[in-house]
Formats: sequence, C-alpha cells, structure tokens
Amino acid sequence: MKAARFDYARARSLAHAVELLGSGDGFVKLLAGGQTLGPMLNLRLVQPDLLVDVSKLVETNLWSEQEGAILIGACTTHAAIEDGKVPDPTGGMLALVASGIAYRAVRNRGTIGGSLAHADPAADWLSALAALGAEIVLLGPAGERRVKIAELAKGAFATSIGDNEILRAVAVPCLPKGTRWGYYKFCRKAGDFAEAIGAVLHDPRRGMLRVVMGATNGAPIVLDIAVPGGLPETLEAAVPDMAIVERALDDHGFADDPYGKAVHLVAARRAFAEARH
Ligand SMILES: Cc1cc2nc3c(=O)[nH]c(=O)nc-3n(C[C@H](O)[C@H](O)[C@H](O)COP(=O)(O)OP(=O)(O)OC[C@H]3O[C@@H](n4cnc5c(N)ncnc54)[C@H](O)[C@@H]3O)c2cc1C
Repeated sequence: MKAARFDYARARSLAHAVELLGSGDGFVKLLAGGQTLGPMLNLRLVQPDLLVDVSKLVETNLWSEQEGAILIGACTTHAAIEDGKVPDPTGGMLALVASGIAYRAVRNRGTIGGSLAHADPAADWLSALAALGAEIVLLGPAGERRVKIAELAKGAFATSIGDNEILRAVAVPCLPKGTRWGYYKFCRKAGDFAEAIGAVLHDPRRGMLRVVMGATNGAPIVLDIAVPGGLPETLEAAVPDMAIVERALDDHGFADDPYGKAVHLVAARRAFAEARH
C-alpha cells in the first residue's frame, strides 16, 4: 500500500516548525527519522495533510552541557549515541541502550526524540530514560516547558506532548558519583522490540532505588523504593516486600498474564544483577 497524498515542508528553524504545526492547515505531523512514521503512512494508519521535516534542523541535532545534565537534540540518531558522538553522562547506559535498538540501518535514521514522541510501550528509550530521571524539553506557541520522561506516556502511543509542540531536546542528568544502573531488554532475538524491559538506578546519596518495568501495555511502571542501608545483592533483598512490585504489574494488566508477569520480573532481576557504576 502507498501513503495517501500529503504536502511536505522542511522546517527552517524550530520556530518555523512550531508555526507550521499551528498553521491550521489540516492535520500536521512532524517527521524525524521516519522509521515509524514511514510504515504508518504507507499502511494509512496516519493520513496527515502536511509533513514537517525537522530531521535536519541544527537545533535538534546538537548537544550541549547544562548544569548537571547533557542536553541531547531530539533528532540525534540512536547510532550517534551508540557511537559515542554525544557525551554519555551515565557512564555507558545510553550507548548500551542505543546499541540494542533494532538493527544498524534503523539506528542510522531513528531518533531519540521520535522514539519518545511515538511512545511505543516496548520502545527502549521510554523506559531507560525514565529510570535515569531524564526530562524532555518541549517548544510550543507558549514557549518552552519540561516534562519528566517517567510522566511522559499517558498510555500506549499516547503522551502529554501537545499538538502544537515539538520535542526539541532530551535532558539526561549527570549521575552522581557512586550511582549504579542496570538495563535488561528481554527479547527473542537481537533487534526485536522488547517483550519486557527492566531498568534500575541506585542513588546511594538519597538511598533510593528506582525500578522501571517497561514493555507493558501502557506507560512504563516506575517504582521508587527507599534502600537506606546501601544496595543488597538481590532485588528481593533490596525490595523485601516484592508484593509491591507484583501488585504494580497486576495493576498494569498482568494479573491474568502469568507469562508476561514472569518475564517482567526476570527482566527487573537481571537489570538489578547487572547493575554497574
Ligand atoms: C524494524 C524496526 C525495528 C525497531 N526496533 C526497535 C526496538 O527494538 N526498540 C526501540 O525502541 N525502537 C525500535 N524501533 C523504532 C525506532 O527506534 C524508531 O527510530 C522510533 O520509533 C521513531 O523514531 P523516528 O526518528 O524514526 O521517528 P518518526 O518515525 O519520524 O516519527 C515517529 C513519531 O514521532 C513524532 N515525532 C518525531 N520527531 C518529533 C519531535 N521532535 N517532536 C515531536 N514529535 C516528533 C512523529 O510525528 C511521529 O508521530 C524499530 C523500528 C523499526 C522500523
């Protein structure tokens, strides 16, 4: 099948992209790497009147340092992150996550911002960046605002990004010394979307363990658990009341899905077991 007819415009600047989004000329869609939007257009799952290409905008392809964070342009590709072309303030988690997304041809074009805006529950960045406490920077007619990635998804393929807003960058916090992270993607073969994702972050200064379970049927599950005495050997020891974790999975639709529940628990345990500085 081929896409329905649409107009195409290449945005000259972020402000131009926002202007086109709000032009009122029918249904306007932003285009980044096209790795998701391309197939959706061809299957006519989405039929925009106008496609606004933001993939070549300088502002969305640069990175910069901010106090305590690295700001990564939304159109930075997974491959650029995998190859270390962007500083990794986590000591390796960004590169690890990027390298596990699809295969190289997709990573060469697919972008961190496009992935977050699409909010596929099985997407890697949504869960990984939620664990890291990262935020997105949005630009709209009223100016800029930030949204925590842990609060971005409102369900499967649904976010709090407004129709007139563009995701311009992702702010990834520099992890304090001693912080440990782990990420585990459960999938049948390399390059597949995840069946389950486990991500953990332990911040010893705050005595806080964050456990994220992704590839659910909606937003990732984010649990912040106090571990004041340092990090024990196993997730069970760190979270003595594992019932909290299981209940969270049940609340997200896994009560009648013992296999799904089991693989999510496995992914979380493996992320914990592999946690490193
Ligand atoms: C075969 C295949 C396997 C894949 N496997 C994985 C995988 O294992 N893990 C994984 O995480 N992903 C996977 N993906 C998805 C891939 O990561 C895509 O890169 C990603 O979903 C979309 O990024 P994109 O830049 O191509 O966005 P596009 O396809 O261009 O756009 C996607 C959506 O985001 C919107 N959008 C894009 N940029 C912005 C912006 N700056 N502001 C606001 N809205 C914007 C678009 O309007 C559109 O709705 C796979 C894709 C393919 C084709």
